[in-house]
Amino acid sequence: MNLILMGLPGAGKGTQAERIVDKFGYPHISTGDMFRAAIKGGTPLGKKAKSFIDQGALVPDEVTIGIVNERLSEKDTAKGFLLDGFPRTVEQAEALDQMMADKGQKIDAVLYIRVDPEKLMARLTGRRICSDCGATYHLIFNPPAKEGVCDKCGGALKQRADDNEATVHERLQVNMKQQQPLLDFYEAKGSLKTINGDQEIDDVFQEVAAILGELAK
Ligand code: ADP
Ligand code: ADP
Ligand code: ZN
Repeated sequence: MNLILMGLPGAGKGTQAERIVDKFGYPHISTGDMFRAAIKGGTPLGKKAKSFIDQGALVPDEVTIGIVNERLSEKDTAKGFLLDGFPRTVEQAEALDQMMADKGQKIDAVLYIRVDPEKLMARLTGRRICSDCGATYHLIFNPPAKEGVCDKCGGALKQRADDNEATVHERLQVNMKQQQPLLDFYEAKGSLKTINGDQEIDDVFQEVAAILGELAK
């Protein structure tokens, strides 16, 4: 199945993606993760993306569409994939439709995790990520068993550079503006599935799993 996870920063896309990957096995394609890896590796892509990400702005469409196009050309996506953080603009969504059409495929569903925007600042400033395996934690809402240490691999937990209050504020503004036209785009196609993200992580996943089970029938 070709799936998209949508939701504002902090809605729980990465958290749910980890569980979807464990249960259903689709490759998880996160544009944010791809940019962060490129920045860490000092690649030309990383150099292009860094200033935008540091400011909480979107990386230009042509750059972002290019990396997704390359990634979706890899063989492991042939039986399905889980896109996280892409598309974020209608231009990106249209480019994605074209990529799918070129392969004789389509997007099967868009899982939109809806959360009250007022809750997102606390989620993002308390977020911690494993520097080895990328697992996501939260200081209060999803703490590891041992402070600062990943439950899954023992790696050190770090805060993302853009999870500070000023950048989060900017990201939320930018993404709120971009999100509605995208939701309208997928609603009009009949592919939008709205999930209540204002619940415990496991309960959100139950909704996700029920939808995916239904789609697989
Ligand atoms: P996104 O990928 O959409 O930006 P994340 O999955 O990284 O969001 O989640 C943001 C933060 O909120 C993380 O620290 C995560 O542990 C926490 N979180 C995720 N889902 C929930 C939830 N349902 N309730 C409370 N906290 C959550
Ligand atoms: P979050 O959902 O918590 O904002 P991401 O990891 O998805 O975090 O994105 C981090 C940053 O990477 C964004 O603020 C933006 O600068 C850049 N980015 C990620 N995906 C896209 C995209 N589809 N289009 C443009 N910029 C993107
Ligand atoms: Zn880890």
